[in-house]
Amino acid sequence: MTGEAHDRLTAAFLRHVCQTSEQPLGIVVARAQGATIWDDAGRAYLDLLAGMGVANVGHAHPEVVRAIGEQIERYLHVSVYGEMVQQPQVELARRLAELTPGDLSVVYFTNSGAEAVEGALKAARKLTGRSRLVAFDGSFHGDTCGALSVGGNPVYRLPFGRLLPDVEFLPFDDAAALDRIDTSVAAVIIEPVQGEGGVRVPGDAFLPALRRRCSQVGALLIADEVITGFGRTGRLFACEHWGLVPDILVLAKALGGGMPLGAFVGAPQVMQTLSHNPPLAHVTTFGGHPVSCVAGLAALDVLLHERLPERAAQRGTDWLTQLRSLRGGALRAVRGLGLLLALDFDTPEATRRFVTRCFDHGVILNWTLHRDTVVRLAPPLTISDDEIERATSVMADALTSRRPPC
Ligand code: PLP
Repeated sequence: MTGEAHDRLTAAFLRHVCQTSEQPLGIVVARAQGATIWDDAGRAYLDLLAGMGVANVGHAHPEVVRAIGEQIERYLHVSVYGEMVQQPQVELARRLAELTPGDLSVVYFTNSGAEAVEGALKAARKLTGRSRLVAFDGSFHGDTCGALSVGGNPVYRLPFGRLLPDVEFLPFDDAAALDRIDTSVAAVIIEPVQGEGGVRVPGDAFLPALRRRCSQVGALLIADEVITGFGRTGRLFACEHWGLVPDILVLAKALGGGMPLGAFVGAPQVMQTLSHNPPLAHVTTFGGHPVSCVAGLAALDVLLHERLPERAAQRGTDWLTQLRSLRGGALRAVRGLGLLLALDFDTPEATRRFVTRCFDHGVILNWTLHRDTVVRLAPPLTISDDEIERATSVMADALTSRRPPC
């Protein structure tokens, strides 16, 4: 692209595409493959965010691209969700039923994570006949009104006025607070490892205690694995680290292999509540789009054949050790699980300096939404040893550099 065309496109982006921050990255994307995104000038960026937790099998995996190409020759959208038998949907639902824990065997497909959270909350309220919801400080479940209502940071809720009533927030990883979950609660929603809350991994006892409490009082336990699912933390689903079987599992991001797709999965006795009284009370036009489902099936095959969850566990452990030896730049601590890692800084300024320096050297990363002193690393699980070495060297330089970022 010429300099003039580049400038015209960027100006149109700023003018016509609704902006969500004052400083978008603004890379003019030409191509993406594996862990790399190239801009229109041919500059390569190492994507340590995997398109924000989506590209677990890497950007544009050839198997995913092939599956999409074959499906678009057959059919695109044909009817609203749930009316016609579409093989890609059925196959993906069957695979998820096999792979998810416990008796989670009925899948409702959506277009996004937030939409899947909405459906899960509605199913829990209808099934239990209760309306109270419990969530956790620091949580993130999406930005639609219902999902935002259970988001654990008032900074993002308050500008939007009154959201869902009857939501209580408990401290994350505090078993003593679980007594506040009682028989008035329809559902408790939790990320097994908080992502936007700063990559927080709970202690071993917390999630089993939460499971016990929910069962005692008849509240449904909703596990939001939109970020942690599909190998990210070193297991196919993060719940497996604690032997946790939720009543509803929420999935999105990597589920679609790069195409928009979300889902919530529950046992038959939970999910049947959506089929009647009244019928069609919870529908979506595009949920479970056949092109997204074939992409999801192909990505799942790649994930399992290439043993990416195991690879994430191994690489994550090794990388964590290397990162813990880094010093300087007000770096305070490093933590994480699998390939969901976090660098914790003393101040937001130090965090921003670090992120900008890394970007200047072709490495994309960012701080988390609710913790502006925490930089998250969530690369494609296919990231190579060489790429990890290069990223680590850029990060080491960014910590010790005295030059101001460009
Ligand atoms: N839940 C979690 C844990 C997330 O991290 C996100 C998005 O980052 C969502 C839900 C919302 O997903 P989406 O952006 O697809 O609506």
